[in-house]
Amino acid sequence: MLEKISDHLYLFRDTCNVYVVTDGSRALLVDFGSGRVLDHLGDVGVSQVDWILHTHHHRDQCQGDSLANERNIPIAVPAHELPYFEEVEVFWGSRQIYDIYDVRQTFFTLAQSVRTARVLEDYEAFEWGPYSFSIQPSPGHTLGHIALVAEIDGARVAFSGDLISAPGKTQTLYDLQYAYGAGDGCDYMVYSLAKLRGRDCGLLCPSHGDPIGDTAQALRSLEDKFRDYLKHRWGIGTPTHDIAPRAILPHLVQIPGCSNTWIVVSDSGKALFVDYGSQSRTFMYSFDVFFEAGNRLRMQEHNIDLLRDQFGVKEIDLALPSHYHDDHVNGLPYLQKHHSTRIWCYQNMTDILRHPHGYKLGCTYPEPVQIERSLAQGETFQWEEYEFQVFHTPGHADYHMAMFGQIDGKRVAFSGDEVNLRGDDHYASNNIWRNHVHANSHEITGTLYLEHQPELTCPGHGGPFEMNSAHWQSFHDWCMKEQDHWRSLAGPASLEQAVFPDYVFLYPYQPPAAPGDEVRMQVWYENIFEEESTLEYRLVLPRGWSADPDSGTISAAPGEKKIRDFVLRIPADQSTACRRQVFTIDATIDGRYMGQLAEAVVDLRPELDWGTGGENPRCSAADE
Ligand SMILES: [Zn+2]
Ligand SMILES: [Zn+2]
Ligand SMILES: [Zn+2]
Repeated sequence: MLEKISDHLYLFRDTCNVYVVTDGSRALLVDFGSGRVLDHLGDVGVSQVDWILHTHHHRDQCQGDSLANERNIPIAVPAHELPYFEEVEVFWGSRQIYDIYDVRQTFFTLAQSVRTARVLEDYEAFEWGPYSFSIQPSPGHTLGHIALVAEIDGARVAFSGDLISAPGKTQTLYDLQYAYGAGDGCDYMVYSLAKLRGRDCGLLCPSHGDPIGDTAQALRSLEDKFRDYLKHRWGIGTPTHDIAPRAILPHLVQIPGCSNTWIVVSDSGKALFVDYGSQSRTFMYSFDVFFEAGNRLRMQEHNIDLLRDQFGVKEIDLALPSHYHDDHVNGLPYLQKHHSTRIWCYQNMTDILRHPHGYKLGCTYPEPVQIERSLAQGETFQWEEYEFQVFHTPGHADYHMAMFGQIDGKRVAFSGDEVNLRGDDHYASNNIWRNHVHANSHEITGTLYLEHQPELTCPGHGGPFEMNSAHWQSFHDWCMKEQDHWRSLAGPASLEQAVFPDYVFLYPYQPPAAPGDEVRMQVWYENIFEEESTLEYRLVLPRGWSADPDSGTISAAPGEKKIRDFVLRIPADQSTACRRQVFTIDATIDGRYMGQLAEAVVDLRPELDWGTGGENPRCSAADE
């Protein structure tokens, strides 16, 4: 039986609460339970269901979805939970069951995949008939959980899933822990409850329990209980939500997250951001350590209201990433879409940010970023009353810059992840070889900083710190010593062969190509040797696949990178039961047979790829 909440809103109690929003004889359902609701819709004059929208992937919300597939009712799911609907077999095939340290309750995932029609992207809106459902990220009960907020019958209604079940109560506690022993889910709850409270809803429609009228009080009391519990259980006095911006100089503000956001504020009220990324270690590491079935690092909007209210920021005019890493850039697409922020970057990151599927690097963020301007080595630019200069600073990653400028009389450096304080007064860099590091990367960076000697360093994590010339000398010494270690450890005569794995590379690394498609690709050969060098290659393809040309010869001078185009063709009868199909390149370098040095991973179901931003299939620089 359907219970009437208001003229166009009904509740059906099933394995979870199913909400029915009507528009004449058509309906939209929020969550679906077992699907029994379909037998009762006629009672309220509904003859067609246009959509099912899900708040999260747990079986009690969606165990009837295969029935919806049979009846051709389109299903929309939270973008961050797509694999738990569409790639259930991949999830179950890879979910750790012995040695469980990822204690997330993703075990409450469907037994079989269902077909979905679209995803619900955070901060966007789903329009249906006279209604607009805005998608409010509300991680906690699950990591990809959303709430949907819509005006219905004159009230602002939040379909809040399993965020809250009654004033001051939540349905389960075991859902609120992801990493072993951690308070991560509880920390997310404070954030999500506070943000939903900020939406000023008149009615909460939870997945379990009864609709709640006094929403501010109901959300606030649960939020406060979680604050108390975080303090008691983990000694956490500042939940992620409460991390606030602080002034470092009159015109320089830091949001001290996991990955800092640095904000230069002009007298005009315009702001320049260096990075905008993960808000806390907790919000970063729930992904960092425990990726499942193709999770994507989730971005949570944070602190923009405080920048406006406390620091006079009227407009986020321009943002630059210190480097391409997900925890530093995952807020950039949001700024671009929702604040019309322009994004510039150092030249060698441009294609990675535009076409992240092209690469096999540590910590790429899959959502493409549109780059308005690429900056060259040593380029100076004017922004409002400030002048900045950018330089290549490889080491932590090759795709990394330093940005220098004078702010409030201080010579400031935005140093990303290159300069780190270790203990008192000891400065070091770091390296992740998967991020592309060359034999002399640290030397380049150490020397650059020794030449410029900025007074105030604003790093990607922690800080800021004031450094004198002795500090910069010791940083330079660390850089040189690091390379000495590599030279002493590495076997090959050319150190590059020990530190740089991708001198033969197939681009894009994850070409999207459904059965019957052809895709433009490239062979990249970077000569890391000290003499002119020649690569002879042959592509090794799955049965029935072809490429034109499928072999070739590339000669390059020392340090030179050369590119050869080819077209890859996938047969129309290619199965997509396994979404990824790998092929390799068989290489002979300077007459020496090296075997299958490199590979590419073809994505046979590109419609499921993350963050295609409407461009499906994705293109790459090989198409340009
Ligand atoms: Zn649930
Ligand atoms: Zn980094
Ligand atoms: Zn970092």
